[in-house]
Amino acid sequence: MRKKLIKIIIAFILFLIAMIFKAENEWINISLYVISYIIVGFEIIRKALRNITRGKVFDENFLMTVATIGAFGIGEYPEAVAVMLFYQVGELFQSYAVDKSRKSISSLMDIRPDFANVEGKVEKVDPDDVEIGDIIIIKPGEKVPLDGVILEGKSSLDTKALTGESLPKDVTEGEEILSGCINLNGVLRVEVTKEYGQSTVSKILDLVENASSKKSKSENFITKFARYYTPIVVIIALFLALVPPLVIDGAIFSDWIYRALSFLVVSCPCALVISIPLSFFGGIGGASKMGILIKGSNYLEAISKAEIVVFDKTGTLTEGNFEVQKIMPVNITEEELLKTVAYAENYSNHPISLSVKNAYSRKINEVDIQSTQELSGMGIVAKIWDRDIIVGNEKLMKEKEIEFLKTDDVGTVLYVAIDNKYVGYILIADKIKDDAKKAIEELKKNNVKETVMLTGDKKSVGEDVAQKLGLDKVYTELLPDGKVKKVEKLLKEKSENGKLVFVGDGINDAPVLALADIGVAMGGLGSDAAIEAADVVIMTDEPSKIVNTIKLSKKTMRIVKENIVFAIFVKVLILMLSAIGLSTMWEAVFADVGVSVIAIINALRVLRVKNNK
Ligand code: ADP
Ligand code: MG
Repeated sequence: MRKKLIKIIIAFILFLIAMIFKAENEWINISLYVISYIIVGFEIIRKALRNITRGKVFDENFLMTVATIGAFGIGEYPEAVAVMLFYQVGELFQSYAVDKSRKSISSLMDIRPDFANVEGKVEKVDPDDVEIGDIIIIKPGEKVPLDGVILEGKSSLDTKALTGESLPKDVTEGEEILSGCINLNGVLRVEVTKEYGQSTVSKILDLVENASSKKSKSENFITKFARYYTPIVVIIALFLALVPPLVIDGAIFSDWIYRALSFLVVSCPCALVISIPLSFFGGIGGASKMGILIKGSNYLEAISKAEIVVFDKTGTLTEGNFEVQKIMPVNITEEELLKTVAYAENYSNHPISLSVKNAYSRKINEVDIQSTQELSGMGIVAKIWDRDIIVGNEKLMKEKEIEFLKTDDVGTVLYVAIDNKYVGYILIADKIKDDAKKAIEELKKNNVKETVMLTGDKKSVGEDVAQKLGLDKVYTELLPDGKVKKVEKLLKEKSENGKLVFVGDGINDAPVLALADIGVAMGGLGSDAAIEAADVVIMTDEPSKIVNTIKLSKKTMRIVKENIVFAIFVKVLILMLSAIGLSTMWEAVFADVGVSVIAIINALRVLRVKNNK
């Protein structure tokens, strides 16, 4: 970029010398123009030639080259140089803008760790070479290179680059930590749980790097548009240059060639070609600053048309931090009941299981667990201490034909059976997330017609949550395939242009995430299924980020439309003026560069988002 700037400045000085101090000798003057033309124009001409050999004849480089060489041909030297000069100023401005958007995305790229300190090795190791089970040491100020569990140490982690959350997160022994965070104060001894390629940090980097390859409809439109538009413009210009002088009496060739050349200059579709992808790029960058990863421009575009937003309950609208409220054993002790459930839940990563394990808080002897099987949306069937253990909801009890006592307690109930005998239940309750209610209200204000909640939890709990949040519809006691059917039905109900957004946490709702027009995974950090199946990943746990995403998407689309209308309007105007000879090449250049610059500035607005809510 600096090189380009220097070229432009030198060429501009030569150009001014030639313009102001019209040299006595005309040849000196012309040489000055030619030299400055070559300085700024060489690269464009080379690109034009190279693209011709690649079969891409009609691009903006070609238009500029023909127009300027033509202008030299008819003796309009200053115009020829000016066109190239201003065109290059526009290009410079564009690379500045692209650079700026890229930086905001690549602040995310800063999460890439450079090394890991493996215990017992003196030298630093490439994170790629660390294996599962290795012990690594993370010192204050270093990046967490791989996902793992803390064996020793306490510290705070800066997760800002990952989640947009500016408050540090305290971590201690036994907790999981994710790669990409920065260790702020304590030394941590960590056992690695995932290879680098499978770790959070590489998943996120992959996702960000691929985002720009998924094009929005508007971008595809522009590519197609340019493919037809430019050849048409060239033909019209040829026509303008040749036909009127032959048909009209007294018309002068060089006049009409001049008009045709200005026509070519204005017709350059740069403003559109540049500013539209840039707006999307900016939108994706702005979102990443808020901890929202969008996997492609197409999703950013689509979510502006959100009409139905469907939520999963547990972990999405509620915290998923269940607390054990009540333990009601039948014929066994409380202690035994809790222990049985904790053992059965040992290998599950459902929010329910985490809460039970927290409540039990003693060491689990894994050799006692012979087998466990998780039945999504129902519970767990296991063989432990040579006994058949069943833990789950009413549905599961009915399916296994266990005689049990149904309770009316409000909350999620885990019924338990040992060797097909009912032994009591554990009542757990979840909390609605702080910002959930506000998020639902805001969705309504942003033209979302319907908000729906799907849950596998029982009717009383689901309806209670839905009513507290003001959701339009709620469907309860759904198994994962029931959720799929409901979403299929909702997809049919929406209008043709409206989009259905599904928001889940990725735990047993990955199929729906993939089925929805736009799948949004929340609290995506740590859940691989979510990061993979979703189109948008919200790294924090806040439902209000959906509203932020929709607002950002609408803003991006508004800017894109403004740019299209503005650019086409100015272009058509100048095109007509230059065709009838009312506009000179000077105005044509200014119009072209001016429109591009304004469109770029407009596009950059989308990057400026407030960092928090
Ligand atoms: P949601 O749709 O609200 O996210 P899920 O589909 O994950 O809920 O689970 C639905 C219901 O299935 C739970 O409310 C619970 O009764 C039962 N369930 C699911 N997983 C488990 C588990 N690991 N242990 C016990 N019960 C479970
Ligand atoms: Mg769930």
